[in-house]
Amino acid sequence: MTAENAPPLALVVDDDPLFRTATVAALTRFGLRVVEASDGDEGLERFAARPADVILLDAQMPRLDGFETCARLRDMPGGAAVPVLMLTALDDEESIKSAYVAGATDFHSKPPRWSILGQRVRFMIRAAKMRKDLARTQAEAARTERIARLGQWEWDLPQGRMSLSAECARLLGFAPRALAMTPAEFFAAFAEADRGRLAALANPAPASGTEEGTFDFECLVPVRPVARVVRVEAALVRAADGRVIRVNAVLQDVTERKHAEERIEHLAHFDPVTGFANRARFRDLVAEATAAGEGAAVLFVQPRRLASVTQALGRDAAEALTREAGVRLATALAWTLERFPGVHGDFGRPGGGAFGVLLTGPVDDELALVLGEALARSLDSPLVVEGREIFARASAGYALAPQDGRDADDLLRQADRSLQAALRGRPGEVAAPARQEKAAPVPVHDLALETDLHYALKRGELRLHYQPQIDARTGRISGVEALMRWYRQGEMVPPGRFITLAEETGLIEPIEDWAIGESCRQYARWREAGAGAIPVAVNLTASHFLNPELPGIVARALAETGVPPAHLELEITESVLLEDLPRAVARMEALNELGVRVAIDDFGTGYSSLQYLRRLPIDRLKIDRAFVSDLGSSPSAEALLAAMLAMTKALGLRVIVEGIETRAQAETLFANGCSQMQGFYFAKPLEADGVLALANGPRRADWKFGAGPAPREALSHAG
Ligand code: C2E
Ligand code: MG
Ligand code: MG
Repeated sequence: MTAENAPPLALVVDDDPLFRTATVAALTRFGLRVVEASDGDEGLERFAARPADVILLDAQMPRLDGFETCARLRDMPGGAAVPVLMLTALDDEESIKSAYVAGATDFHSKPPRWSILGQRVRFMIRAAKMRKDLARTQAEAARTERIARLGQWEWDLPQGRMSLSAECARLLGFAPRALAMTPAEFFAAFAEADRGRLAALANPAPASGTEEGTFDFECLVPVRPVARVVRVEAALVRAADGRVIRVNAVLQDVTERKHAEERIEHLAHFDPVTGFANRARFRDLVAEATAAGEGAAVLFVQPRRLASVTQALGRDAAEALTREAGVRLATALAWTLERFPGVHGDFGRPGGGAFGVLLTGPVDDELALVLGEALARSLDSPLVVEGREIFARASAGYALAPQDGRDADDLLRQADRSLQAALRGRPGEVAAPARQEKAAPVPVHDLALETDLHYALKRGELRLHYQPQIDARTGRISGVEALMRWYRQGEMVPPGRFITLAEETGLIEPIEDWAIGESCRQYARWREAGAGAIPVAVNLTASHFLNPELPGIVARALAETGVPPAHLELEITESVLLEDLPRAVARMEALNELGVRVAIDDFGTGYSSLQYLRRLPIDRLKIDRAFVSDLGSSPSAEALLAAMLAMTKALGLRVIVEGIETRAQAETLFANGCSQMQGFYFAKPLEADGVLALANGPRRADWKFGAGPAPREALSHAG
């Protein structure tokens, strides 16, 4: 076809030279360009060489007549859609019919009225263009639906009909052209358990759905080869008498998200190499057992050759060794426990290459020693890894609850101490905990500290430092986190030492109210100094966040300083949600209404699942630095981070990763789609002036990741 703005091109095919000349003259007057051909064959050749926007075909020509030419044209590339006007002296119905059968768009008698012919041709061109545009929009809509895995369907209740979009049909496993069907046929695509819920949309229970009368639920579609999970969102249209007459719904394939969630669940709780509970889960199990107050013991077994195998044969071999060792230890555990009825053992991977066993039931030193030895000895005979025989050799150590440790952390620490002692001895040995009469560490309440803290605010000893948050796509500051510092008589006390104290003594609220106000004032000062808008995040303790007065305090701070609400973020930890979920949600909603953002700090260290967070009005997750520090040392760490990032993206949550200390870590994160970063690699917490200098300074090339040209600003700053 011709270019968008060039005059349309007409091809006139006629064996009568006089008629051709007259046609050319008429069409030129209507602003068309014209190409001529004197018979059907030549016409097809011309079209092949240069597709026209419209074709005028004489019906009666020697050799190839107009009908045959038209039929052949329709099979040529680009020939199917071009409008064809068939011209014939014949005015009988038969030839009109033949013209349409041959694929002509329209029919005109010969000789024509030239002015009408010109208009007719222009109209045909316009109609063809509209048809083409329409087809394109439809194709685009279908493509968008496909990318989003989003289908639509509509249920017309009076007619008893379901209409489906193409993507909807595809998602439900119908034939591509099955775009209309009965409700029963439609429901049959879903798992039986979900059909009732779908059918109930026609007649919903009075209190069901949301306030706006919409419905949102997930269904299973048992298509082959893999069943899909789809999320259905439906809105009802009612008649004046309240009856539902139409259901408008969209349907989205959320299977991948579901899988990611399950995968995260698994990665978050289990060691990918052995399938045993990972560090976090193992600790939870130990915590549960110690809290139950019944007998419990933790036994650590460490294959001693693991480190040298990693060094000599690489990580894959070390993993294979670990896996084999795990199988052997599990067998030995099962055998040994047969002799101790009532004792139960759970495996875990507490970290550092060791295996942990949590024993519950009637446990004592004798059992622990016997079992420790059995496990350590089970690794005496060689393991075969990559065709080699490897003597893993193991040592073990244990601790009993409650005598060696009352809570999980204590017990794990003591067991580790025993293991370290055993590792200093010969392989195959088990170390019991050292139990000399130790004075219980009495918590000395630092009274002086508490008294001083009371005055800290008044004396102006509290300061905020600000740690930059970086947008790695641009290498620029995208915000800061305010971190509290206490200069107690000139000496800096880190927040770890006084925040808990402030909480216990009820001082946290005035202190943090001050932090909110001060952060807002600092925002305004930076802006006045020409640094532009630097969004600021403030940390809040759980108790403070739950305080009903918080939204009012935040609103006042914003109003006094003119900070846009979206530029203030409040960081809370997951513990807030555990403490009092309904109140936490109420607070989040009030803050959301103000336009203030809420972020979950230290994400991944607590208990909440992403699935659960999805339901809360949260803007951002701050992935804890623990996940970053494992990068590079454990292959599963990157997989876990990648899955977490994919998941947050799927849930539409923004994300920032903290504690980035090396360029390699930042690169890994960036490669996994994370661009918001915070950590010592970029900057430590700075005084306000330090942030100003950074924001106004040259763009840092080492903070920008990914390809793309160096931004122009950087050049002008550098110059
Ligand atoms: P957080 O909110 O997770 O803050 C990040 C902490 O990690 C900061 O420690 C920061 O200095 C440190 N950090 C940042 N990047 C890196 C890195 O690359 N590597 C390492 N190893 N550490 C990094 P800081 O300032 O000692 O604060 C500790 C915690 O104290 C904070 O953890 C936060 O929970 C709490 N905190 C600080 N200010 C406040 C406050 O105003 N209110 C409340 N409730 N808590 C606060
Ligand atoms: Mg924080
Ligand atoms: Mg944090």
